Amino acid sequence: MSTPLCGKCSGKVVYTRTYSGESLCASCFKNSIIEKTKKTISKYQMLRRGDRIAVAVSGGKDSLSLLHILNNICKDHSTQLHAVMIDEGVAGYRDEAIGLTKAYAEELRVPLLVLSYADLFGTTLDDALDWKTERKTTSCSICGTLRRRAIDIGAKRINADIVATAHNMDDLLQTYLINLFNGDIERLKWLDPGHKGRSEFALRRIKPFSEIYEQELAFYAYLSGIPFQSESCPYMNEGIRTEMRSFINALESKHPGIKYSMLGSVVGTSQRLSGSDEKPLLRCESCGNPSSSETCSVCRTIQLIRINK
Ligand code: SF4
Ligand code: ZN
Repeated sequence: MSTPLCGKCSGKVVYTRTYSGESLCASCFKNSIIEKTKKTISKYQMLRRGDRIAVAVSGGKDSLSLLHILNNICKDHSTQLHAVMIDEGVAGYRDEAIGLTKAYAEELRVPLLVLSYADLFGTTLDDALDWKTERKTTSCSICGTLRRRAIDIGAKRINADIVATAHNMDDLLQTYLINLFNGDIERLKWLDPGHKGRSEFALRRIKPFSEIYEQELAFYAYLSGIPFQSESCPYMNEGIRTEMRSFINALESKHPGIKYSMLGSVVGTSQRLSGSDEKPLLRCESCGNPSSSETCSVCRTIQLIRINK
């Protein structure tokens, strides 16, 4: 039997896309990921010429791949790139990521700003989570609320117009199912990669990897020699996300391409919902940030942490 050849250049095949039947060599595979990212950016009009972008990086494979790809794309776009990293304060977890992100940002010559929950909110995540045991909330939902704000603060400090995050297609599908099962319709509206935000005083957020499989990003990082953190956060498996990931991956291995079809439904549902009754944002009475109620979720979370400390 003859060895299969790359469908684009006849080189040695390193990856076959089960959902499309496409076989690619290392170089064509990497190009396909860059092209998919560019296509997503243009399809949802994510970038404008002259934008100043804050890339949220965690030291994981997805965010460092995003920094790597945007750094190349931005060279032709007269856009300015900065990286923002948040140290949540989880003992023994972030140190490796901070070290390798600093080194990688330096190699790419992208300025990096590192902020911590301790400096911004007066508590580490470990300390903040002490009180939560009896409450119906997960570590990731508290952490996610604080991190979103921390990234916004970082982005404003560097005068960014836009925040780019490395959420991939799998992240979007998992989030959709989690919100669906939680009955959280409001959050379904935010999953449209082209969502423009709800107010002129909220930062624009973009997800250029929205149409790329998680496993392909891991392979891209590996082929490109991008260093990334191997350690997982100790709180990672507390929530339902890990189960959603296994469920969707099991479906995909039985029915290749089902993730793509589901993404179409996620984007369609999100667009219809956000077109319906989007409420204007208010300003939080405590911190002045955009909020859907008088006090924003970050200020409510911080108040709870202080009361229970
Ligand atoms: Fe925060 Fe959860 Fe991520 Fe850990 S896994 S850093 S708790 S969002
Ligand atoms: Zn607030």
